[in-house]
Amino acid sequence: MRGCPNRCRFCQARSQYYPLRIRKPDNLCAIAEETYKNTGYDEISLAGLSVSDYPKIEELSSRLMELFKDKGVSLSLPSIKAKSYVGNLSSIIARVKKTGLTFAPEAGSERLRQILAKDFNEDDFFSALRESFKAGYQRVKLYFMIGLPTEKVEDLDAIISFSTKVSELRREVSSRPAVVNISINALIPKPHTPFQWFKMEGPDAIKEKQDYLKKICKNRRLELNFHNRQMSFIEAILSRGDRKLSPVVLQAFKNGAKFDAWSNHFSFDAWSKAFASSGINPEDYISEKSENDRLAWDFIDFGLSKEELLGEFKKIIDM
Ligand code: SF4
Repeated sequence: MRGCPNRCRFCQARSQYYPLRIRKPDNLCAIAEETYKNTGYDEISLAGLSVSDYPKIEELSSRLMELFKDKGVSLSLPSIKAKSYVGNLSSIIARVKKTGLTFAPEAGSERLRQILAKDFNEDDFFSALRESFKAGYQRVKLYFMIGLPTEKVEDLDAIISFSTKVSELRREVSSRPAVVNISINALIPKPHTPFQWFKMEGPDAIKEKQDYLKKICKNRRLELNFHNRQMSFIEAILSRGDRKLSPVVLQAFKNGAKFDAWSNHFSFDAWSKAFASSGINPEDYISEKSENDRLAWDFIDFGLSKEELLGEFKKIIDM
């Protein structure tokens, strides 16, 4: 499946891979068999933007398991939507490789999830989780974002209380609570999304929020992981940038910036010096935009109009 049927307002992938295109289970099974024959790999992972939204996910999973059951090949599913899990998928998931469960609530509070337009129902989620623990899963990974529009301290508290509830739920089937890996990224309001007019919170503001979360997270079963805030800052500048950034990119490279997506190679210093020598203020690129601004990416037609995005943006303002 290419594209995604959901409409999460922060998500650039949906617009980048727009429109939604669905592959037939016959084709996918044939590709899986061919790949197995040619590589000998022993695990098949179904990849996509929102795999559990694939309309024939149950049929596909069953057929793949049947095809490979005598070959020692396991099937793994990435982030699963709780709603799908509550349906018939749970019996399939109980049989797939237990590499750990991944869910993306994105925000701890329902209020912020509505702003994100995240299709996430807590009742479905906790039912799904209960089934997963019964099926033998022990670890859960949760993805959250911070720096969201209108975010308050209570919303940060909600990340920890939500994750604690996830961990404690396992006590229903075991004496031990679950280990919960909490991955937290700073929101980057990306082009071609209704969030493109919002500002991004800078590294200092994000650090304050990270420190607060570390302070209130006392539970040993909760493992907090933060994406490097300076990397997020540079990513935001590059993704919201225009042609004036070209000399900065070249200068950063000359200053030693290479393989920046690898945290051990990332040099914030190389970028800071490049900005300083260019006279460009990087903060300008993460600032709020006005509805009347011409945005650097407006000329790219990806299938949805700016008016549609603006309509969604206004809904957030009115919330
Ligand atoms: S965040 Fe995931 S589910 Fe939401 S629109 Fe993007 S790809 Fe789809």
